[in-house]
Amino acid sequence: MPAAAHIELNITALRHNACRAREFAPEAKLMAVIKANAYGHGLVLVANSLAEFVDAYAVARIDEAVRLRAANVQRRILVLQGFSSLDELKLMQRYQLESVIYTEQQVDILEAANLPGTLTIWLKIETGMNRLGFRPERFVAVLQRLQQCSSVHAEISFMTHFANADDLQDNKTTQQLQLFNETTKNYSGAKSSANSAAIIAWPATRQDWVRPGLMLYGASPMLQQTAQHQGLVPVMSLYARIIAIKQLKKGATVGYGGTWQAAKNTLLAVVSIGYGDGYPRHAKQGTPVLINNQRMPLVGRVSMDMITVDITEHAGIKSGDQVLLWGDGLPVEEVAACADTIPYTLLCGITQRVQIVIKE
Ligand SMILES: *Cc1c(COP(=O)(O)O)cnc(C)c1O
Repeated sequence: MPAAAHIELNITALRHNACRAREFAPEAKLMAVIKANAYGHGLVLVANSLAEFVDAYAVARIDEAVRLRAANVQRRILVLQGFSSLDELKLMQRYQLESVIYTEQQVDILEAANLPGTLTIWLKIETGMNRLGFRPERFVAVLQRLQQCSSVHAEISFMTHFANADDLQDNKTTQQLQLFNETTKNYSGAKSSANSAAIIAWPATRQDWVRPGLMLYGASPMLQQTAQHQGLVPVMSLYARIIAIKQLKKGATVGYGGTWQAAKNTLLAVVSIGYGDGYPRHAKQGTPVLINNQRMPLVGRVSMDMITVDITEHAGIKSGDQVLLWGDGLPVEEVAACADTIPYTLLCGITQRVQIVIKE
C-alpha cells in the first residue's frame, strides 16, 4: 500500500455493477457511460475491464473516444456532445465513432460533408431537460433531412435524457418518457432514455439501450436510497494515512481560520489528504472518516494536503494507521451530503497526484 493518498479500484465490483444494471434491464443493450475519465476511475482501465460486460461506451467528447481507440478499444463508442465542425465530423468518421445529433447546425454540416463512408447517429430529442436536443415539433423535419444525407448511416437511433429521474416523487420522468415515445412512435429506430436512476427506479424507461453511469461505479443515484440497497458495490475506495497525532488542550483551535475549537482536551489525528487530492474542501465538521473500521469526525477546515480528525474517543490509534475517506464501508454519497454536493463530483474530482491501486 502506498503511504500517500491513493485510491483502490475494485474491478470485481465494477463488473458486478454492470451485471446488476443488466439485471434491472435484461432486455436492453448496455451502453456504459465512461465520460470524465470514467467518473474519475480511469477511462481506459474501466473500458477494458468492462469489455466483455457491455455493448457500447458513451463519452462526452471526441478526444475521450480517440483515446479509447488509441488504446485499441473495439466496441461501439457514442460521443454525447458529438461534432461541431466538419473537421470533427471527419475525425469521428475516421475513428468509427457515433455521434449524438442535437442542433440544426450539425445537420447542415452533415449535408455539406462528402464522407467516404457513413456516420452512425443518435438523434436527441428535447423532452424537458432543456439542454441538448430537438424539440418534438422539429423531429420529423430533421429526421427527414438526416435520412436523405449520404453521410448518415441508414439506421438512426433516438435518445432523450431525464432531468429528475433520481426523485421518485416527481412525475416529470413519466412526462418526458411519454413525450419521447409519442414523438418517435412511428419510427423503427432503437430508443434510449435511461440513465442510472431511471434504470433503477423507472422500469418503463428501460428501452432498447440503457446508459448507466454512476451505478457502474457503485454509488446510488437515488436521493433517498443507498447503493447497498440496490445491490451495488463501491468501486473506488479513497485512502490516506495518519501522519501525526497530537494532544490539544481544551480551548485550542485547529487549522486555517481556527474554525473548530476543542471543547475539552482532545486527541487529534492529522491525515495525509486534502483538496489537492480531491477531498472536498467544503466537508463539514463531523464528516465521517473510517479508521480501524470505526467512524470518527473531521474537525477544522480541510486544507490542501491535510485534514484533521478527532480521535479522542478511540484508543489504540497510531501514526501510520490507514484512513478510509470513502468507499468500502463508508458510502461516497454520505460524504458528498456532508459537503453539500453529489457523489458524481467527488468521484470525478480525484486529482492526478493520487496513486491508483488495482484490485481484481
Ligand atoms: C452522464 C450521462 C448519462 C449517465 O448518467 P448517470 O446518472 O451517471 O447514470 C446518461 N446519459 C447521458 C446523456 C449522460 O450525459
